[in-house]
Amino acid sequence: MDVEVLHHGGAVQVGSERLRLKDLLGPDRLQGGGLRIKGARLAEHSLWLALSDGTEHQVPLPPAKTTDRLATLIVRNIGQLLTMQGEGGVGLVAHAAVVCCREHVLEVVPDRDALSAVALAPGCRVVDACGGVVSPGLVDPHTHPVFGGERSVEFGLKAAGRSYLEIHKAGGGILSTVRSTRAATFDQLARSCGANLTRLLAWGVTTCEGKSGYDLTLEGELRLLEVLRTAGDCHPVDLHATLLGAHTLPPEYIDEREAYVELVAGQMVPRAAAEGLCRFCDAYCEDGAFTPEEVERIFRAAQAAGLGLRLHAEQFTDQHGTELAVALGAASADHLEAVGAAAIEALAGSRTTAVLLPGAALACRCPWPPARALLDAGVPVALGTDLNPGSSMTSSLPLMMSLACMQLGMTCEESWRAVTCVAAASLGLGDQIGRVAAGLQADLVIFDAPDYRYIPYHYADNHARVVIKRGRVVLERQRD
Ligand SMILES: [Zn+2]
Repeated sequence: MDVEVLHHGGAVQVGSERLRLKDLLGPDRLQGGGLRIKGARLAEHSLWLALSDGTEHQVPLPPAKTTDRLATLIVRNIGQLLTMQGEGGVGLVAHAAVVCCREHVLEVVPDRDALSAVALAPGCRVVDACGGVVSPGLVDPHTHPVFGGERSVEFGLKAAGRSYLEIHKAGGGILSTVRSTRAATFDQLARSCGANLTRLLAWGVTTCEGKSGYDLTLEGELRLLEVLRTAGDCHPVDLHATLLGAHTLPPEYIDEREAYVELVAGQMVPRAAAEGLCRFCDAYCEDGAFTPEEVERIFRAAQAAGLGLRLHAEQFTDQHGTELAVALGAASADHLEAVGAAAIEALAGSRTTAVLLPGAALACRCPWPPARALLDAGVPVALGTDLNPGSSMTSSLPLMMSLACMQLGMTCEESWRAVTCVAAASLGLGDQIGRVAAGLQADLVIFDAPDYRYIPYHYADNHARVVIKRGRVVLERQRD
């Protein structure tokens, strides 16, 4: 059988199987996402790997699926387990334990049965939650984690009251990130993307969505999607990629809008989809970015190519992008600071999730998005960090929960659902992650907290002590 290293060292092809580094080593041995595969060959029912840190590994080829019910990891002594089961609330179970078998949850049991409910596998790990809160791994449904450079000087100018034009003249704005991104090597971008995933993980995020959008050329946007793939292959956090070729008009096309829209719809979208580089297509529908008509042209091409849709809609002005997103069956309409009543009604009768980004509203001094009106109308509401170098330089999803509770009129329970089950559903992953139940992925966060409301209540503090991804401990801090 032939063995070939793929994805810039993120994966190997073994016969007909493609295996990512994280599948081969396990999410707990990835050393922060910096390792790459340098060489690979088959050796007696196992795979020999040479890694970028100079080490060599003999890993068994993934064993055939077994149906045994053995506990490989148990989280016990949980004060409050948030299962997110049921239509509302947090599905709270007191004094519980979670029994995991390899990558999945086997059972939720009373703590007194933690060690006896299921036979223990040799080497079964028992993690003491110390009476704290345990939630599903957090899911961030809106990030821009791959970009070159940073914009702290521009932040300083904004804070000093300088105008957009002055910042633009000083070389700031989104196009400065486009320049830095185009100038960066693949490896530099993959490393900084991995560092952003590590920051998200530190707050308890185990799955995120991530967008391209800072190159704005055909080959460059495909390169950014490849960066996202390699970063995700080599990091414990699962990354679901979105093509955002229609982020802003690139300088080369300033007088040729139509030609750029055609490039995105006619070439970027079909190639990204055909090469399996992304699951979703996004666009920025805004005054100064793209019109609803231009977005529709791109989205119809994306649908024809089999991609799901997400839309930056109504951030500063009401362009009726939300109505378009609903009409095309988009997975999400994001931002919505300036959304109108008719659009809320349209969302209410649809399967499109409202993804709210209070960090961007805070940084841009926008009105808060109307979370209460959306929730009262029956719209599913998720929260994202919008991690990006311009308008929301944060990786803290719990801070978004705090803002949601303190400023957006959301309850603590709604804020928890917004970063777990609702966010997962908006990514089409509601049957795998975002809740704690038998058969779901064993992604869990242990918070050092006496109550689930303690987490949004302590804004900008980090109480995540242990993070578990696919049944393995990937982050562990000492107790205070
Ligand atoms: Zn965004």
